[in-house]
Amino acid sequence: AAMREERIKKTKTVCTYCGVGCSFDIWTKGRKILKVEPTVEAPANGISTCVKGKFGWDFVNSEERLKKPLIRDGNVFREAEWDEALTLIAERLTAIKNEFGPDALGFISSSKCTNEESYLMQKLARGVVGTNNIDNCSRYCQTPATVGLFRTVGYGGDSGSITDIEQSDMVLIVGSNTAESHPVLATRVKRSHKLKGQKLVVADLRKHEMAQRADVYIKPKPASDLVWLSAVTKYIIDQGWADETFIASKVNGFDEYYKSLESYTLTFAEKETGVSQETLIKIAEMIHESKSLVVLWAMGVTQQLGGSDTSTAISNLLLVTGNYGRPGTGSYPLRGHNNVQGASDFGSMPDRLPGYEKVVDEQVRAKYEKGWGVKLPKHPGLNNHEMVDAMHDGKLKALYLKGEEMALVDSNINYVQAGFEKLDFFIVQDIFFSKTAQYADVVLPAAPSLEKEGTFTNTERRIQRLYQVFEPLGESKPDWQIMMEIANRLGANWKYEHPSDIMSEAASLAAQFAGVRYELLEGYNSLQWPVKEDGTDTPLLFTDGFPFPDGKARLFPVQWTRPLEYDEQYDLHLNNGRLLEHFHEGNMTYRSEGISSKTPSVFLEVSPELAKERKLVSGTLVRLTSPYGQVVVKCHVTDRVHGKEIYLPMNDVGDATINKLTSSYADKDTDTPAYKDLMVKLEVLQEE
Ligand code: SF4
Repeated sequence: AAMREERIKKTKTVCTYCGVGCSFDIWTKGRKILKVEPTVEAPANGISTCVKGKFGWDFVNSEERLKKPLIRDGNVFREAEWDEALTLIAERLTAIKNEFGPDALGFISSSKCTNEESYLMQKLARGVVGTNNIDNCSRYCQTPATVGLFRTVGYGGDSGSITDIEQSDMVLIVGSNTAESHPVLATRVKRSHKLKGQKLVVADLRKHEMAQRADVYIKPKPASDLVWLSAVTKYIIDQGWADETFIASKVNGFDEYYKSLESYTLTFAEKETGVSQETLIKIAEMIHESKSLVVLWAMGVTQQLGGSDTSTAISNLLLVTGNYGRPGTGSYPLRGHNNVQGASDFGSMPDRLPGYEKVVDEQVRAKYEKGWGVKLPKHPGLNNHEMVDAMHDGKLKALYLKGEEMALVDSNINYVQAGFEKLDFFIVQDIFFSKTAQYADVVLPAAPSLEKEGTFTNTERRIQRLYQVFEPLGESKPDWQIMMEIANRLGANWKYEHPSDIMSEAASLAAQFAGVRYELLEGYNSLQWPVKEDGTDTPLLFTDGFPFPDGKARLFPVQWTRPLEYDEQYDLHLNNGRLLEHFHEGNMTYRSEGISSKTPSVFLEVSPELAKERKLVSGTLVRLTSPYGQVVVKCHVTDRVHGKEIYLPMNDVGDATINKLTSSYADKDTDTPAYKDLMVKLEVLQEE
C-alpha cells in the first residue's frame, strides 16, 4: 500500500489520570505525540497540567499493548480472532446463565472508560443478561462520599466548580494529599492561599505539601476524623454560631442531629483524636469568621470502617454553618480516576440506574423496560466486594471485567486472586495484559482514550468530550464496540454507530442528563449536571434548595466507628496513597518512559524517630507483615510521617503492592475497603 503522508494534527482530549479532568490539545504526527498543549479554553485547568497529563502518554504505543484477543489454553494463552473469542464468550455466558440463572454472572465497569461505556456495561448486565450484579471501582474509593452527600444534600457530586474554590474564604482539606493526587486543583488553592489570604486548614496523618502550607495543620489519630469534625460542629452550635436562618429555611432534622452530638465534647475529642482543645476551638473560630467554607476530602476519609459516616459529618458541618448554595461553599469529594464520577452517574452500580434512580423503584424500572424493550431484574445486585465473596461461595460463576486491575487494587488481594481462580469463566478487557488478566479465560484488547470518542465527567460534575487521536492499535477496539458485539451475540440488537447515539439514549431516560447532547459538548464546551432538557447546566448546586421532596437538606446523625483492634505484634500504622508521578497500580505510567525514568519504584516512608529506634536508613530493605500477607520494600526516611506511622504508596506493579497487606474489612454502609485501617510489623532484612 502506498505510504500515507503523515500530517501534523491537533486533537482535543481529556486527561485520564485524575478527576480534575484537565483538557488539552495533543499534537501528533502519525502515531508520534509531539506535544501536549493546554489552552485558556479548558474549563478545569486553563493553561495548566501536571506531569502526568503532560508526559504520561507513551504507553499508547507500548510494545506491550494487547493487539489481539487471547484465549486460555491450559496454562498458556493463545492469540485468537475476534470471532472465535466472541463466539466463545457468548456460548459460555449463555450456558452459565441457563444453568445457574442470571445472578451467577457479574459485571465490573471501569472508571477509566467513558460515560457511554459505563452506560453500556450496565445495560448489558441488566437489559441483556438480566442481573443487577454491576459495579465499578468507585466502590474502592469514593462511594462513601456519595452516600454521605445523598443522605444530607441529595446529589453525590462536588457542590460547585473547581474555579469556585478560589473564591472561598476558607478551605478545609481532610485526608487528601491534594498536591500530589489532584495537582492542578491544588494549584488553585495554593494560589488563593498565598495571594488572596484564603485560610487553609489541613487534617492528615502525613505532613504533605498542603499540610506544610496550611495555617493550621492537625494530625488526628488514624480513623478519628468524625470525632473532631463532630466536636467542632457541636462547639460552633454551642457558641451560637450556627447559621440559624439557613437552618430554619433550608434544613430538616436539627434537633435530633444536635442530640446525636452530645458525647462529642472537646474533652472527648482531644482524648480520642490527640488534637488539643485549643486547636479545635481555633478551627471552629476560623470557620465562624469565614463567610464561606469548602471542604475537600478523599481516601483518608472514605477508606475507613466509618467512611460514609465521616463524609456525612463533613456535610453536616457545612449545613450547620450555612455553607451550601453559594460560590466558594460546599462539599468537594475529590474523585480519583478520570471518570469515577461518570461511572456511577451512568448506572454502573448494583442498586442504581443512570442518574442514580433506584432499581427497586417500579416506575423507574418501567421507564427503562419501555426504553430498552426488556424486563428488568427487581432486586439490587452484588457490589464488587460482595462479588468476591460470591466467587468463594460458588454463587458467582462468571465475571466480565473491563479496565480494572482488580487483582492488585482491591484489598486483601490474596483472597481476591483465590476468588478469580474459582470462577468458571472470566473475561478481562484491558489495554495491557494486566495481573488480573492472568486469571482470565478470555482477554479482549481494548483501546485507550486517545483511540476512541466519548465523554468523561470530572470531579466537578463536568461532562467533557474527548476526540479520537489515533486509530486503535492492532486489532484492539473501543470498549463500547466490544460490549455491543457481545450484547448482540447474546440476542440484543444494538445499533450504536457512535458514542453520541449512546449518550442520546441515556439522556432520553435519565432526567439528570436530559439536555446532554454532543452538539453542546463540541470542542472545549462542557456541561455540569444536572442538565435540563433545554441544555441549561448547573455549575453550582443547591442555589434553589436541595433535591428532596420539600426542597430541604437533612442533617443526618452519625456515630463514630472505632478502628479495628489488632494483635499487639502489629505495632505500626501503615497508611497508603498516591505518588504524584504515577497513576494507581501504574499499568499506564510505568509504561510511560517520561514518567518511569523519574520514579521507577515505590519506597516505604518511615519517620526519623522510627528510623532511629529500629536502625533504619534510606535504602534499608524491610519486610512488612500484616495478618493477611507480606511485602518486601526499601525504606525512605522522611519527616513527612511521624512516630509509628509509616506510609507506602499504592502505585506499584511489582511485588510491593499494599494490598497484599490490607484486610477485607470495609465501610459498613458501602463495602468500600478500609484500606487505611491497617497495622503491620516491620523486620529489617538487610541494611543498605
Ligand atoms: Fe491530568 Fe489530573 Fe494532572 Fe490534570 S491534574 S493533568 S487531570 S493528572
